[in-house]
Amino acid sequence: DNDPVTTADPAPTSGALFARAKAVTPGGVNSPVRAFDAVGGTPRFIRSATGAWLTDVDGVDYVDLICSWGPMLLGHAHPEVVAAVTAAVARGTSYGTPTEPEVMLAEEIVDRTPVDKVRFVSSGTEATMSAIRLARGFTGRDVVVKFAGCYHGHVDSLLASAGSGLATFAVPGTPGVPESSTALTLVLPYNDRAAVEAAFAEHGDRIACLITEAAAGNMGVVPPGPGFNGFLADICTRHGALFVTDEVMTGFRASRTGYWGIDGAVEGWTPDLMTFGKVMGGGFPAAAFGGRADVMSHLAPEGPVYQAGTLSGNPIATTAGLTTLRLATDEVYTHITSVGDVIKQATTDALTAAGAPHVVQSAGTMFSVFFTDPADGPVRDFAAASRTDGVAYAAFFHAMLERGVYLPPSAYEAWFLSSAHDDRAIQTVLDALPHAASAAAA
Ligand code: PLP
Repeated sequence: DNDPVTTADPAPTSGALFARAKAVTPGGVNSPVRAFDAVGGTPRFIRSATGAWLTDVDGVDYVDLICSWGPMLLGHAHPEVVAAVTAAVARGTSYGTPTEPEVMLAEEIVDRTPVDKVRFVSSGTEATMSAIRLARGFTGRDVVVKFAGCYHGHVDSLLASAGSGLATFAVPGTPGVPESSTALTLVLPYNDRAAVEAAFAEHGDRIACLITEAAAGNMGVVPPGPGFNGFLADICTRHGALFVTDEVMTGFRASRTGYWGIDGAVEGWTPDLMTFGKVMGGGFPAAAFGGRADVMSHLAPEGPVYQAGTLSGNPIATTAGLTTLRLATDEVYTHITSVGDVIKQATTDALTAAGAPHVVQSAGTMFSVFFTDPADGPVRDFAAASRTDGVAYAAFFHAMLERGVYLPPSAYEAWFLSSAHDDRAIQTVLDALPHAASAAAA
């Protein structure tokens, strides 16, 4: 038996694996939020997953409200995705040549979204990094505008905090990013038109692009105000800058079309560039950026802007993504919406009954819960999100986990559902909520 998992320690526990992991990996994890630092405790090491359920190495089952941070729109180990991927693996896993599945997935994405052409990469970070390079190459300008609280992956120039004044350039958000990397980044408050106008008034002729999450999902869910995305599209066009919507999280997750800025279709604007990831990889490392044909044709080998990847458009990942998107029908989104409505309502009811002040916010099928006084109004930007009560969330999180519900281990993440969240999964969540609400109120 060559399976390194079945031949390993027959009864590892999450605690024992976490200790082993910490000896060989910083913090014991390969992406920081998995470590439970924000909520305390030991992350569960997952052995397997089916449908809406995760099973950890100790044999405990959890309803999964993380869904791999978005990708698992159809739930885990969907039989048709597994069958397609298994067949693809048997044909070989990577050739470093063009293949049919990547053409098919590109056609599917071009079909569903406003992009004319698309280029595949292996992570959302690569997608936004490449989109920015392309925007700079296309416009011949250097400055990038982003919003505080919008996350676009760990791209150096986007790991930036706002500078001291509204339209001043950013400072690095982490050690390891040189000041020179953020010196061309402007970080503005989300949903703040006046700040955007001021930045364009002062630096408009130097701005290559403005990048925004189509709906913010990385400071909790904070939807753009009515018309905000259209306003951004318009001001970019007026100043010759490209409007880049990051749909790594929202794409094919918040809506079927993959185009959360669906109001764009109504208001008559389209982004110049878009980035995708998560759902379109079906649980494999795949992401993409795409957009206007005249912009995309600036990419190598058609144009001068260099961009490449050994595993880009990998046949297994594109097969998984294509199969997932083809199964992502209207019924899937209707189901996820109605399950979300039930869970949002039950969460509000339980927290209200327990006396825990909170606000539930949604964008398409995505939603999250802020522990904050509803009298302060909705959370519209990062400053407001940062004022919410992380301690209450930690108590809430652990009470849910104890009762078999795996929420994101951070107050600033969306809760994700799938088409596999059925009555049994919903009931487990509903049964856990009153206990968790009391814990949050305590
Ligand atoms: N953009 C957005 C909106 C995201 O939510 C994320 C990841 O959560 C990324 C980009 C980065 O994607 P990845 O983690 O695949 O690099």
